[in-house]
Amino acid sequence: MAGIYLVVVTVVEVITHDLLVIGSGIAGLRAALEASRVSGGKIDVAIISKVHLMRSHSVCAEGGTAAVLRPEEGDSFELHMWDTVKGADFLADQDAVERFVKLCPEEIRLLDRWGMPWSRRSDGRIAQRRFGGHSFPRATYAADKTGFFEMQTLYDTLLKYDNWSRYDEWFVTSIIVEDDQFMGLTAIEMKTGDFYLFRAKAAIIATGGAGRIYTFTTNSRIVTGDGMAMAYRAGIPLKDMEFFQFHPTGLVPSGILISEAARGEGGYLKNNKGERFMAKYAPERMELAPRDIVSRSMMREIIEGRGFEGPMGLGYLHLDLTHLGAEKIYERLPLIREVSMKYAGVDPVEEPIPVRPAAHYSMGGIHVNIDGQVLMADGRPVKGLWAAGEVTSVSIHGANRLGTNSTAECLVYGRITGAEAAKYIMGGAELPSTPKDAAEREEKRIFDVILKTENGENPFDIAWELRKTMDKYVGIFRDEEGLKTAVKRIRELKERYKKVTVVDKGRSYNMNLIATLETGNMLDVGEVMAVSALARTESRGAHARTDYPERDDDNWLKHTLALYTPEGPRLTYIPVVIKRWKPIVRKY
Ligand SMILES: Cc1cc2nc3c(=O)[nH]c(=O)nc-3n(C[C@H](O)[C@H](O)[C@H](O)COP(=O)(O)OP(=O)(O)OC[C@H]3O[C@@H](n4cnc5c(N)ncnc54)[C@H](O)[C@@H]3O)c2cc1C
Repeated sequence: MAGIYLVVVTVVEVITHDLLVIGSGIAGLRAALEASRVSGGKIDVAIISKVHLMRSHSVCAEGGTAAVLRPEEGDSFELHMWDTVKGADFLADQDAVERFVKLCPEEIRLLDRWGMPWSRRSDGRIAQRRFGGHSFPRATYAADKTGFFEMQTLYDTLLKYDNWSRYDEWFVTSIIVEDDQFMGLTAIEMKTGDFYLFRAKAAIIATGGAGRIYTFTTNSRIVTGDGMAMAYRAGIPLKDMEFFQFHPTGLVPSGILISEAARGEGGYLKNNKGERFMAKYAPERMELAPRDIVSRSMMREIIEGRGFEGPMGLGYLHLDLTHLGAEKIYERLPLIREVSMKYAGVDPVEEPIPVRPAAHYSMGGIHVNIDGQVLMADGRPVKGLWAAGEVTSVSIHGANRLGTNSTAECLVYGRITGAEAAKYIMGGAELPSTPKDAAEREEKRIFDVILKTENGENPFDIAWELRKTMDKYVGIFRDEEGLKTAVKRIRELKERYKKVTVVDKGRSYNMNLIATLETGNMLDVGEVMAVSALARTESRGAHARTDYPERDDDNWLKHTLALYTPEGPRLTYIPVVIKRWKPIVRKY
């Protein structure tokens, strides 16, 4: 064939390490620390985060971290396991729960040794308080700033090692998996706008949850489900994505979290008649029933007219701490007081706090095995790839997570995956070949398509409409009609996204571009959530279908797996690991 062809060759710059840790929350830092510890500082670790390492959402964790520390006072592994399995509405894998529960106390003691300022009892021992769904006070805490101190302690301890590098403000855009093997990832250095391919023998995905997919949420702006979406697009299934937790007490109007510790310390929830309405819904546990039950009860009170009218249509209820006394509030809940005063003009020592349920935590996530290794739908492990923390579904939390079990899971699974990945690398794992084509395709997708499109759709409008859709149809209560509408609207938004326009065409700190990529990720995650929720015709844990109000163990005691196809998610199901406890009626 005659003719002259001009071949444009893009050269993507390559960075190589042994192990990539994507995300620097509690899970990521704990994983990097364990990989450094078990290898004696010998393997070369890189931590990548789209914000400064210490600004990950984990610093916001307030109320505590679960662990059995007092068998002599009546707590036991058995009890923590049972509370977790019942809290999960029996969708948790019981082998994973057992392993998790048994490793929690060691993590608390390790952190103590590394300098964690745990709150103490008067006898000098580590203090613990009550939390929803736990039948023993086993929330270990540092006032109401537990996550902040855990992050600080992990970071300080990591500084003892010099085998790791940090990539703060680098945005990962894709995870590359070929033939069931982790091949690398692509990322944008936000400062310069330059695009890179990272190669490594192994990686741990620790990118956190997706709470920003709703409007009223306790989650930081950065919690946009990136890791879930990237894994999904790489062909890895997402598990149980229909289960999303609403925390009962988001501060009105901002959504900032008022920790469950406020109720753990004895706070009351009251309606506009001054009644402690939880007596109707969970007479034994009252305000300390699991979150799915308390959130549904609060929404019923608001819907049936026993709430207060708030700004922007945000009906609310009262969280009353006034009977606890100033001293207890100053000592145990200083952050709650500061936040209530600054953001709602209310001093909880004197007045009740205005609260309503807020989007909080994703029970679903990347499909992994009990070692945190990423799995394909048929159960084959992806070589060299692990995931830990909120981005995963192990599954420990099943259909509803108990408070304080997440930071605990981040610690335990950060440790497990860090050790597993280090072992794999030290065992002689080879660096996979360069995935040049995948990196170049990704570079083109971002810089030649998304960044060059003109006069198209506004990414912020798309994100806002997605959030409103999720609020309205994929919220605390769901039904078939609403979920069908959600799937349809999200698909329309995905079509519009194909013409999305980034107004800022610059390279350096192009936050317009980053927000656009995040919106794309949220669209994928939202679609999987809505499709998974539509299919599950029962009510279990946080998934409450008004058209199917009962739990249906005969048909639905199984995990959902959602697989990427160009037409939308394809669902398959796998069994729940039931070892000791068969499902019973869940009452509190
Ligand atoms: C306000 C609040 C209070 C909470 N309180 C408690 C509590 O008291 N007890 C409890 O057990 N749980 C609590 N939780 C839940 C718990 O804190 C979280 O589930 C947990 O901290 C998540 O940690 P993580 O390490 O998985 O991810 P995160 O801490 O969310 O970190 C995610 C990391 O991934 C990085 N990242 C994400 N996407 C990208 C990308 N595209 N490129 C590069 N980097 C990326 C981010 O920069 C960040 O470093 C709370 C949650 C909130 C929101």
